[in-house]
Amino acid sequence: MERKLASVVTIDDLQPIKDADLIEVATVKGWKLVVKKNEFRVGDHAVYCEIDSFLPLKPEFEFLRKSSYRKMGEQEGFRLKTMKLRGQVSQGLLLPVQVLEGYDYVMGEDVAARLGIVKFEPPVPAALAGICKGSFPSFIPKTDEERIQNLSKEFSSYREQVFYVTEKLEGSSATFYFNQGVFGVCSRNLELLESADNTLWKIARALKLSEKLAATGNNIALQGELIGEGIQGNPYALSGQTVKFFNAFDIDTQEYLSMPAFREVMKVLDLEPVPLLDENFLLPDTIAALLLLAEGTSMLSPAGKAVEREGLVIRSADRTISFKVISNRFLLKENN
Ligand code: AMP
Ligand code: MN
Repeated sequence: MERKLASVVTIDDLQPIKDADLIEVATVKGWKLVVKKNEFRVGDHAVYCEIDSFLPLKPEFEFLRKSSYRKMGEQEGFRLKTMKLRGQVSQGLLLPVQVLEGYDYVMGEDVAARLGIVKFEPPVPAALAGICKGSFPSFIPKTDEERIQNLSKEFSSYREQVFYVTEKLEGSSATFYFNQGVFGVCSRNLELLESADNTLWKIARALKLSEKLAATGNNIALQGELIGEGIQGNPYALSGQTVKFFNAFDIDTQEYLSMPAFREVMKVLDLEPVPLLDENFLLPDTIAALLLLAEGTSMLSPAGKAVEREGLVIRSADRTISFKVISNRFLLKENN
């Protein structure tokens, strides 16, 4: 599932902001964002750009320069982040459909490529990046989670289920697999060549992942979050690096293991899963209430220091439902 960074939407709601004459707050799916007053009406079609969009340098986006100019490697552009304006959390950007210059869109269509919008990715340190062996294996899904704000239609039906809640860790995705006698290590998007100093390969050796996966007797992949020194500013103040796992994938059946089966694999292989916060969780009435529950202190906070957690990943036991709820308090403090 590729994330839709910019898509055509209908504006669901517009409300005034207390003590603000020039701006109002728009609702699009489960997102809230501040817009100029009277620029849009409820029911209008518009292009909604999610946070983490990196917009190209074009005259029509110059109004973003003051708040959002950034470089991504050599590339210049405007990065959309969570902001707070007059006490109102604002996430993303609405553009009038006219930016599509008459293009015959379909509602919901992803128009990021058409507008030159890509995802903002902070640079990866060399020891982490490693040397590419090839593209990500086609027999394993890449890790990703949909945001709850994009599931506003499904939310009420989800409220009939119980969920597993884990802490979302702020690191970098890692995949380790054993398939037909071959062990492999992958970063978020690439398979990595084995080397003495690549961080993910070092961890694979330290945790004996090749031996452990082979011993399961299955063709299997484990996916987890790489955290520690040199990764995303190491918020948990770890020394060295490690991986905390969140997925086990059966390569033969092409299915993720259920949550209980995954927890069992972690025990049997003596590996660390991401922190489990609840295994009998019921969703609150609204997405807004769930967003508040996502705010909190990380289970990985070092002694004597409360670290703001990134958020939650919420899954049904059979794993057919899975989404992330990022803490707005975390997003507002974030400074990369
Ligand atoms: P994002 O970091 O916003 O791209 O969100 C998706 C990513 O969160 C996944 O690809 C994982 O690398 C990462 N992640 C961190 N903690 C967890 C967790 N507890 N469960 C699932 N994914 C997680
Ligand atoms: Mn992440």
